[in-house]
Amino acid sequence: MSSLRLIVFGRQGAGKGTQAVRLADHYGIPHISTGDMLRAAAASGSDFGRQVKEIMDSGSLVSDEVMEGVVAERLAQPDAAAGFLLDGYPRTPGQAEYLQTLLAPDGVQAAINLEVPEDVVVDRITGRRVCSSCGATYALGRDESAVSGLCANCGGEVLQRPDDTEDAVRKRLALYAESTEPLLNWFRERDLLVDVDGVGDPDDIAAALVARIDERRSGAPGAGS
Ligand code: AMP
Repeated sequence: MSSLRLIVFGRQGAGKGTQAVRLADHYGIPHISTGDMLRAAAASGSDFGRQVKEIMDSGSLVSDEVMEGVVAERLAQPDAAAGFLLDGYPRTPGQAEYLQTLLAPDGVQAAINLEVPEDVVVDRITGRRVCSSCGATYALGRDESAVSGLCANCGGEVLQRPDDTEDAVRKRLALYAESTEPLLNWFRERDLLVDVDGVGDPDDIAAALVARIDERRSGAPGAGS
């Protein structure tokens, strides 16, 4: 079968990371996260890494031109020949145009949009508690440590991160919606967007994703919906 070229979108707390790893495993393709790549560059301390770190720390986006180089180089690696799952790119319609040109004549086969209603995401994130010593994560309503404030793993203090409060989360989600909606529309207009319900058991969601992607690859009727 031809190479599989996918993109995954999902607001924070939608389970995008979990599903991206599962999909990449299932299809044996690399999960390419531009955020991870840029963080690795920043940690390396190179000139490029220092410039990137400054931009990331300020909360801005790295320029489309710089990202073009990063993505073109990564997608040219041998492990991406059989396909890839891109996470964090494209982030602007300009990047989407570039990607389709880079991958011409075929382009990507599907852009997955993992949909989780805002209130569900807000509940998930505001119920998250993190150990200040070992970083273990707990959930209110599921883990005793989230209530007791005492880490079951190391005995450290379990707290809510300042950016996990409802106000902060809603602000981040509004920003995501503002910047991502035009991009989702870009793919929707080209019949490349695959909306998948991201609420429920992670195994069921993964199975639904695989079914939708396989349907598209085989060109089954209704696959464009
Ligand atoms: P992420 O982990 O995907 O949220 O990315 C972390 C940071 O890396 C972002 O806030 C941006 O500063 C930068 N970044 C990642 N991907 C891109 C991209 N496609 N275009 C521009 N900047 C990006």
